[in-house]
Amino acid sequence: MSVEICVLGSGSGGNCTYLGTSKTRVLVDAGFSMKETARRLASINIPLESIQALVISHEHSDHIHGVETLTKNLGIPVYIAPAALDAMRIDATKYPFEFIRAGTSFTIGEIEVHPFSIPHDSIEPLAFRFDTSGIRTCVVTDLGYIPELVKQRVAGSHCLIFEANHDLDMLKVGPYPWFVKQRVMSRHGHLSNDATARFFEEDYDGAAEHVLLAHISQKNNHPDIVRMSILQAFEKRGLPTRTIQLTSQSEPSRLIRF
Ligand SMILES: [Zn+2]
Ligand SMILES: [Zn+2]
Repeated sequence: MSVEICVLGSGSGGNCTYLGTSKTRVLVDAGFSMKETARRLASINIPLESIQALVISHEHSDHIHGVETLTKNLGIPVYIAPAALDAMRIDATKYPFEFIRAGTSFTIGEIEVHPFSIPHDSIEPLAFRFDTSGIRTCVVTDLGYIPELVKQRVAGSHCLIFEANHDLDMLKVGPYPWFVKQRVMSRHGHLSNDATARFFEEDYDGAAEHVLLAHISQKNNHPDIVRMSILQAFEKRGLPTRTIQLTSQSEPSRLIRF
């Protein structure tokens, strides 16, 4: 049985990743409107109605924009941390919410989900490891630095979706107000290209057949710079650079199939 993965879109304008097997189909984060989510899923031949659950990382709007309309219209459960739901100010009794916590694994159909904590400026931010049919996929975005725990959790990933948010120099001279720049650069903000490159150079186990770089800033980064930084890290390690793929805000990634 195969596992399919597609980052439908990633960045501060909306995040959503599709993960599916022949029996179980979920979305990780729901940062687009229902219409846009349906359009992007249709482009990889997945009907919106076949999605069985939403798994939410944290309550920032680029991750939850479509949650209420999707659960309301599809009648599907939303797996979310209690504090994140509180912060969303949605009536929890209206929809089928399932509470999740870092360190407590759960199962959706054929997919085992292992949430873990990441350092980010939301209330209870999570990243995820998904295990299904012997295939391990990790979705790790929205973190200010990479703690040891994260390095351990992503080990053995066949598909690794990992943040490379900003180029430090571009961020410094870019359009954001200073307090936002400080937030992005802080230990509870986002990972720079350098931080992610350092991870791939020093800590990555080289196991993934697919590495998808995600949450790339459109204002404070450039695809060529991201690609170059991470390629250099791979080359220093002698790792195959063909595994690297950049995700985009505007269109879905290539559909990955195991
Ligand atoms: Zn985000
Ligand atoms: Zn965030």
